[in-house]
Amino acid sequence: MRKSLPTQGTDWNTLSEQLDSFSADDVDWRRSRSAVFVFHAGDDVLDVGKQAYAKYQSENGLGASSAFPSLARMESDVVDIGLELLNAPEGACGNMTSGGSESIFLALKTCRDQARALGRDTRNAQIVLPRSGHPAFDKAAGYLDLEVVRIPVADDWRADIDATRAAVNERTLMLVGSAPCFPYGLIDPIEELAELAAEKNVWLHVDACVGGYFSPFARRNGVELPVFDFSLEPVRSMSADLHKYGYAAKGASTIFHRTPEQHEFQFFTCDQWPVGTMRTPSAAGTRPGGAIAAAWAVLHYLGGDGYCRKASEVVETRRLIERAVSTLPSVFVIGKPQLGLIAIGSDKLDIYAVQEQLSTRGWFNPLLDEPEAIHLMLSPQHRLVVDDYVTDLKAAVQIVEQGGLRSSATARYN
Ligand SMILES: *Cc1c(COP(=O)(O)O)cnc(C)c1O
Repeated sequence: MRKSLPTQGTDWNTLSEQLDSFSADDVDWRRSRSAVFVFHAGDDVLDVGKQAYAKYQSENGLGASSAFPSLARMESDVVDIGLELLNAPEGACGNMTSGGSESIFLALKTCRDQARALGRDTRNAQIVLPRSGHPAFDKAAGYLDLEVVRIPVADDWRADIDATRAAVNERTLMLVGSAPCFPYGLIDPIEELAELAAEKNVWLHVDACVGGYFSPFARRNGVELPVFDFSLEPVRSMSADLHKYGYAAKGASTIFHRTPEQHEFQFFTCDQWPVGTMRTPSAAGTRPGGAIAAAWAVLHYLGGDGYCRKASEVVETRRLIERAVSTLPSVFVIGKPQLGLIAIGSDKLDIYAVQEQLSTRGWFNPLLDEPEAIHLMLSPQHRLVVDDYVTDLKAAVQIVEQGGLRSSATARYN
């Protein structure tokens, strides 16, 4: 039965109760039961984002340069902060977008349009990225009529430089590295990709969607990370999501460019209608003022020290899980993660059956299929439940091991 708009309205109290009841079957992220989709840095952080969002809920980023200097100012502050965190040179610039997928779309569009402006035929143009790269690149390439070439990862699960070199040809427009990649949480060898990009004179995009607002703070905390940002000259653009480890309200990411000349190709301009020229930096027309204000507020609420504390909670949680895994001979951690993502695989038991055991205990995570693994993207609040998780993980592994359990088909839910 199709729902129709009720003729008469309902009071807010009733609706509020209904909204709460709708979420009864959702994953219990407030108690940190989900290791994906939600980044929980504490109720205070949530509250700052919520209040700031509400203040600017009706304001429209489309009018940032005319009607809402408030939004222009906040977006500019957010972009400046991101550029500084990612060691961008003087003159580098960027924008806020609705999310990582839009930031990646804009990087590809900018790259393609610059190539066209330089007289290149982009009809068969290719983007070369590791197998572990995000599908947002394929989505964008589909929109932009570009071809994606995915290169299998090396033995350490990171981008394979030799195989990437072999794949580069005259059709290649862009190389992509992730910092880190979503599946394994590993930072690709960006320095080597940068050398290759310089040698072949192609664009290098670093996808720091999930790490851009995390790695700089992990590094300040003493985690020894490889160089992955604008401090490498051949890195031309980067994507970094505020609504992940920036802990901002959803609908907030950033796209950064090394130079304003390059940034220019990101813009859309049209004067073929009766309202003069419309010029927008991103895919959207109307942009939510709330998302800009919430990101600005959360960045200033936490400050560098706050982000460092959150990063250390996340890294400590990951280490506790790694330590537990190291005591279980039948499972292992994939690669050497250094940030907040970790994947647990096994060549001795059915790891999906372990996840089924964990899910009966209320834990929700995605699964990988290359290799089969449990995937965790950790939030600061997971520090509060990690002991319970580890206990349940050990119990789940034991049950699967002793019972020789196999996962049911429904375990493969993603
Ligand atoms: C999340 C993510 C994206 C896509 O971001 P959305 O905000 O979901 O559109 C792209 N790349 C990586 C590495 C990610 O983790």
